[in-house]
Amino acid sequence: MIDLRSDTVTRPTAAMLQAMANAPVGDDVMGADPTVQRLQQTLAERVGKEAGLFFPSGTQSNLAALMAHCGRGDEYLVGQLAHTYKYEGGGAAVLGSVQPQPVEHADDGSLPLEKLAAAVKPKGDPHYARTRLLALENTFQGKVIPAAYIDQAAQFAREHGLGLHLDGARVFNAAVASGRTAHEVCAPFDSVSICFSKGLGAPVGSVLVGSKALIDEARRWRKVLGGGMRQSGFLAAACLHALDHHVERLAQDHENAALLAEGLRGIEGVKVLAQNTNMVFAEFAPEHTEKLSQALQAQDIIIRAIYRGPTRMVTHLDVSQDDIRKVVDAVRAYFG
Ligand SMILES: *Cc1c(COP(=O)(O)O)cnc(C)c1O
Repeated sequence: MIDLRSDTVTRPTAAMLQAMANAPVGDDVMGADPTVQRLQQTLAERVGKEAGLFFPSGTQSNLAALMAHCGRGDEYLVGQLAHTYKYEGGGAAVLGSVQPQPVEHADDGSLPLEKLAAAVKPKGDPHYARTRLLALENTFQGKVIPAAYIDQAAQFAREHGLGLHLDGARVFNAAVASGRTAHEVCAPFDSVSICFSKGLGAPVGSVLVGSKALIDEARRWRKVLGGGMRQSGFLAAACLHALDHHVERLAQDHENAALLAEGLRGIEGVKVLAQNTNMVFAEFAPEHTEKLSQALQAQDIIIRAIYRGPTRMVTHLDVSQDDIRKVVDAVRAYFG
C-alpha cells in the first residue's frame, strides 16, 4: 500500500517496536514511569523549555495548553483555519469555557498583526471576554511560518500581555525545512505542542512543553480530560526512538513531496496548487477525481480525493522515492 492520505498512517518500524518492548515502565499518573519522564525531559531540553508533559493526542495537548493559559471567560486569538480552532471539535469552548477569536490568515499562513490588534478586546470592560493568548500553528498546511513574522507576533503578544502558544504538530518539519534547530523555532513561544504520531512515525503521542508552572497546570487538566495514562512508557519509548532516528530524515519526505509535485505538474488533467514541506495540494478535473481515486486504489495507492476540493497528498516514513515514481506513473497512465 502507498498511502498518501496523511503522515499519521505510518506503522512502527521493527527497531521502534524493539525499543518499545524494552522500555522500563511504571505508573505515570503517580509520576513513576521512567521512560515517560525521560521523554518529557529530553524533548523539553531539546527545544529549550523547562518541562514537558506526555499526552495521548495533539488535540488533548493543545486543549490542556489552552486551559492552562486561559480561564473561564477568557479568549484566545487563533487562525480561522487553525487546527486548534477548526479541527478540535470546539474543545476550548465546549470543555474549557474559553472563547476562540478566529482571525483570517494571510497567504503565508501568518495572522496579520493589524487583524490581531483589532481583535484584542478592551481591558476591564465586562462586555468582552478577556483576551489572554495568541495561538499560532507551524507548519500550517505544510507551510513554514516565516521566522521574522513569529518574532513580530511574539513582540505583539508581549505588548498586549498575551501568552503565546504554538500548535507545533509538525514543528520538526518546520525546523528541518528551514535549516534551523527545533530550539530556535520554539524559542519565542511560552508553550508548544509537538506530535509524534505524524511525520516522526510513532503510533501515539504528543508532548506539551513550556514553563514548569504552565506544565503543572496542564497536568491537572490532562487528568481531568482523561489523559492520565499508566504504563505509557511503552508509547514514550516509541517517541524517544523517533527523536533519535526520525527527525533528520524528514528532509527525505520533503524531497519526495517535491518530486511528487514535479511529476504531477507534467501531467495534463492535474493542477498542482502547492507543495510545502511534506504536503502536495493538487486539483484534478472534477469528472476524474472519483475515477482516478478508484483507479489508483486498484493499484494499492490511496489518495484522499475530495470531490471539487483540492486533494492533499502527504509523504512520510512509509513512502519511498520509488513509491513516488509509481504514483506519478499511475496518474500519468490514467490521464494518458
Ligand atoms: C494532527 C494535528 C494535531 C493533533 O491531532 P491529533 O490527531 O489529536 O493528534 C494538531 N494540530 C495539527 C496542525 C495537526 O496536524
